[in-house]
Amino acid sequence: MKISALKKCISVLLLFILIMLPELNVSAAERVFPRDDNLVIVIDPGHGGTDTGTQGGRIQERFMNLMTAQALVERLNMYEGVTVYMTRFDNDTTMSLTDRAKFAQSVEADFVFSIHYNACYAHDRFGIEVYTSRIAPYNGYGYQFGNLLMHRFEDEFGIYPRGVKTRKGLRTEGDYYTIISANVYREIPAVIIEHCFADGTVDAQFTRTGDQLREYGRADADAIAEYFGLKSPMLGIDMSGPSDDLIYADTSAFNDATYEDRTAPDNVTVSVKSIDPEANTVTVTVSATESDGMMMFYALSTDGGWTWQESKPWPGADTYNGTFEESFELVLPFENGYRPTIVIKGFNRYDAYTRSEPVTFLESFNGNYTPLYRTGIIYGG
Ligand SMILES: [Zn+2]
Repeated sequence: MKISALKKCISVLLLFILIMLPELNVSAAERVFPRDDNLVIVIDPGHGGTDTGTQGGRIQERFMNLMTAQALVERLNMYEGVTVYMTRFDNDTTMSLTDRAKFAQSVEADFVFSIHYNACYAHDRFGIEVYTSRIAPYNGYGYQFGNLLMHRFEDEFGIYPRGVKTRKGLRTEGDYYTIISANVYREIPAVIIEHCFADGTVDAQFTRTGDQLREYGRADADAIAEYFGLKSPMLGIDMSGPSDDLIYADTSAFNDATYEDRTAPDNVTVSVKSIDPEANTVTVTVSATESDGMMMFYALSTDGGWTWQESKPWPGADTYNGTFEESFELVLPFENGYRPTIVIKGFNRYDAYTRSEPVTFLESFNGNYTPLYRTGIIYGG
């Protein structure tokens, strides 16, 4: 009697746990934006007219932004309960950033999304990033949206998530980017979406065709719908429920994950772990410490820093949680007769980098003996 009662008790308990499990797994965060039924969204295709934006891609950025924004607006209009406006409408006009914010104010916008493509001097960066305001509650609104969007772009297109970021104004504690500060001044949250790098070798595959640029606009629209919890009977999409990609965001204070880290990583090192003299390979250990941010990329040089290989994601870099692997190994193959000097550049989330001291080989690889090497700078000679 007692044992069967115990069994019954256990099975009831197990059933209870099984019922509760899915409930416990759904720990999606709340939507932080206080949305009403009459949502007004302004889509701002960045640049335009005499302001061309980056020239680094196949076409000027002003046209790329417009293609993405048009597809975005077309799709967002298929959702219910949202009115969508564009700043520079259907054409390629010159429009100041303040005029864009004034326009948003005139239509009583709830949120402004500014559409861009990125570029950099060295043409070696890649990935998607979103800029949000430094000021609460706008910081938290943009932080939650940006994470949602990056998840979508990583899952759907394989574009690398660089993070939701902030940038401080030069002479103020406010925001550097006028499209953000001019809107926030009018109490309108605004974010800048830098979809990927138009000029980068890694991201070149993502901006080959107009279809791709339009595809990103549709993904933006779906992310916006997910963020606000919209429905589209026309598309057969209902995003009003909870979403796993909604992360917790603080709207009463600055979200630390958006902290602008302009100082270089504390330390980056490279050291020889082992050498295989027959295979002509060196296994090196790369390590970094970055106390006020996270590591995001690394680049390798085998000729002492004269030339650099294409930068790669730092192993384990997780922009959603701010974590990365403190050290990892690389196996480097060399040709017979080559005498490498190995250097690593480790970049943080804001592209500030620290260069390791070199590992200098004093003899070349020749397939039958272990060449001598020194770690650290060799003076003189
Ligand atoms: Zn731009």
